[in-house]
Amino acid sequence: AAKTEERNAFRFYSPRMQADARRRIALASELRKALSESEFRLMYQPTVEMRTGRIVAVEALLRWYHPQRGLIAPGEFIPMAEKLGLIRRIDQWVLQAACEQMSAWDKAGLPPLRMAVNVSANWFGQANFVDEIRMLLESRRLAPERLMLEITEGAILRLGEEMERTLHALHSLGVGVAIDDFGTGYSSMSYLKLRAIDYLKIDQSFVAGLPDDASDGAIVESMLTLCRRLDISPIAEGIETEEQHRFLLRAGCVEGQGFLYSRPVEPDVIAQLLSPGRRQNNSHLRLVPPEAG
Ligand code: C2E
Ligand code: MG
Ligand code: MG
Ligand code: MG
Repeated sequence: AAKTEERNAFRFYSPRMQADARRRIALASELRKALSESEFRLMYQPTVEMRTGRIVAVEALLRWYHPQRGLIAPGEFIPMAEKLGLIRRIDQWVLQAACEQMSAWDKAGLPPLRMAVNVSANWFGQANFVDEIRMLLESRRLAPERLMLEITEGAILRLGEEMERTLHALHSLGVGVAIDDFGTGYSSMSYLKLRAIDYLKIDQSFVAGLPDDASDGAIVESMLTLCRRLDISPIAEGIETEEQHRFLLRAGCVEGQGFLYSRPVEPDVIAQLLSPGRRQNNSHLRLVPPEAG
């Protein structure tokens, strides 16, 4: 009886859901080839110092240019790569490519930036993770301070004791550690007591309701107080309006990122934005026109 029920239940899947399932299965097998076929590219989103509008960092964001399906967003394929055990190799590729880009900008004479790279728990949790990072930075002659690794609260939760060692090792190496999407995970805040976190990225879901939503306002202000008290540098994500920018600046947020300033863009756009002749001041919050990127 259970069998028939199962079979009948299947009929409730809409054609849409079936198409989605087919796409997922196809993508999963194609994802294995994407690395070797060089279908990945990095885009870079500027992070600005909110007070001055100056670019202080960029975040490397992965894009998959599929030969037939076109652009695929990381939100779709990263979770897939995690399940398939491919994320570690992908993250390694990303870190390598981001460091190469940093060296290229240095060689072109651009002012040094911090490079933010997202890493998943699968790799961050490996015993030799910190050694790999150290070796990569040494081989490229990059100061560890130039690199910032973004991990989510979920990743910290999954690591347990190993996490403490890894965080301290990264911290003493000088690599920046940021908690990404802060406030959206299920972990406790006890990891903050380790004093090994350098940045908190306030998730865009809390920024979205600013300045009118009282709950978002209260949450964001508390996060900023927490950062001040713990000597952590706050970065707000997903800033789309000048009103959000003003609220965050007044509340003491230090750095910001979002479509208001710039979408993720190609590396040559970053190079143009940083070129010595270009004036950087806060009279123009917008670095890149909204349609670009
Ligand atoms: P994230 O690290 O929190 O990155 C921020 C995401 O918000 C990016 O989406 C960015 O394009 C988007 N964003 C930036 N400003 C705004 C804004 O003002 N409004 C809105 N609505 N969105 C904004 P993206 O590039 O699609 O990346 C999604 C997520 O995929 C990232 O979230 C990150 O968790 C993951 N991801 C991206 N690249 C990598 C990677 O190389 N490795 C790993 N492990 N994960 C990655
Ligand atoms: Mg991130
Ligand atoms: Mg985030
Ligand atoms: Mg996110």
